[in-house]
Amino acid sequence: MAGIIFLGPPGSGKGTQSQILASQLGLTHISTGEILRSAIANKTELGKSAKTYVDAGELVPDQLILSLIRERLGNSEIQNRWILDGFPRNVAQATFLDELLSELQQLAQWAINLEVPQETLVKRLLLRGREDDSEETIRRRLVVYEEQTAPLIRYYQKQSKLQSIDGDRLPEEVSAALIALVSDNG
Ligand code: AMP
Repeated sequence: MAGIIFLGPPGSGKGTQSQILASQLGLTHISTGEILRSAIANKTELGKSAKTYVDAGELVPDQLILSLIRERLGNSEIQNRWILDGFPRNVAQATFLDELLSELQQLAQWAINLEVPQETLVKRLLLRGREDDSEETIRRRLVVYEEQTAPLIRYYQKQSKLQSIDGDRLPEEVSAALIALVSDNG
């Protein structure tokens, strides 16, 4: 078994779907967004440093995230059985991850991209009502995604790791497609 990376814009369902897949496959689900939200709620040092960025829909600086990822993936109990949800978010983070995994003698097997049209994303995010889901922040998150995260699709395509899944259908249909993907190729 190896690790799985979840790509996809905000509102694509990657949080929900990666969590379901992780529990079905018995993998550790690592969501950098959740880690940050919990740090902010608990007012830790990380939370205090991250809050203005998260509230504005910007990526938090890489240095706040990288040591946290190193710590989680280096945890011997996880043993290359993980799903990364929301990391990497830019090319620098992806390069860091490649180096870290080779150092830890681990492997990312797939980068799964959930494809959802932009109009659907905005509708879904407005309905969701998370604290960083104001209309202004949503628009900014989508721009940040296009500029910084979307280039990772090409990045993982070049590594022959990319798997694109249609995320514009019922959640249970997306889940079924994901299970079929890992069962066919696992
Ligand atoms: P998410 O839950 O993945 O949508 O992330 C929510 C917010 O947390 C993002 O809008 C960013 O501000 C921040 N965030 C999550 N993951 C990362 C990351 N890998 N790098 C930088 N910022 C992140």
